[in-house]
Amino acid sequence: MAENVLKISNLKVAYGGIKAVKGIDLEVNKGELITLIGANGAGKTTTLKAVTGTLPSCKVEGDIFYLGENLRGKKSFELVTSHLAMVPEGRGVFTRMTIHENLMMGAYTRNDTAAINDDIEKWYSVFPRLKERSAQLAGTLSGGEQQMLAMARALMSHPNLLLLDEPSMGLSPIMVEKIFEVVRNVSAQGVTILLVEQNAKLALQAAHRGYVMDSGLITMSGNAKDMLDDPKVQAAYLGEA
Ligand code: ATP
Repeated sequence: MAENVLKISNLKVAYGGIKAVKGIDLEVNKGELITLIGANGAGKTTTLKAVTGTLPSCKVEGDIFYLGENLRGKKSFELVTSHLAMVPEGRGVFTRMTIHENLMMGAYTRNDTAAINDDIEKWYSVFPRLKERSAQLAGTLSGGEQQMLAMARALMSHPNLLLLDEPSMGLSPIMVEKIFEVVRNVSAQGVTILLVEQNAKLALQAAHRGYVMDSGLITMSGNAKDMLDDPKVQAAYLGEA
């Protein structure tokens, strides 16, 4: 049987009177690349924040099981050593540190120096642009390079689950392709990923399964390739008639 890494059950989130998430179910199994797509304001980021305990004070109901443990109500600081990594929209790299120092920060909770160095080399091979620039300050990198660094830094913590929020946001078409290539490559290394994306086509092409979110509800889910072929998904999210 597939091993559940994340199981969200009847999650509801309300910011005051605004019901952002209205009772959703979502599962991510070990080794899967799952994408959550949907229009602006559908509730995708709110769902990720509920998992990582980074919501502002608001009403949360339902259950969020991560490796069998219910996270509901847990705060982000309680999850530091849980190998749950999120790359937020806007990336959040340490701009005054070099690429190498950012990667070392990703390994902050580890003390296995030799393995840390091996991991840095491993992720440099996946992200060669970062290797070439290892001594460069992160703040001077392009948006796409910062996105790669944020992902590589998150991977340094050996995540059991990597949450990516809109990694293609604000990037040029070529860089978007590159980022998706990297996401596929990271997934192929066995990392379990939940990818929130507005670029539904590229996200579904990369993913094993997908969920569509609309106005706080999951309106469709299934095999990503089937969803790509679905006329309803094509009309609403892929810009095809
Ligand atoms: P986008 O793709 O534009 O980032 P999204 O699907 O990630 O959208 P959310 O950011 O989760 O959507 O927002 C869902 C709803 O919750 C929106 O109506 C948004 O205005 C509202 N919302 C989000 N954060 C807050 C907040 N801190 N306070 C009040 N309302 C919020």
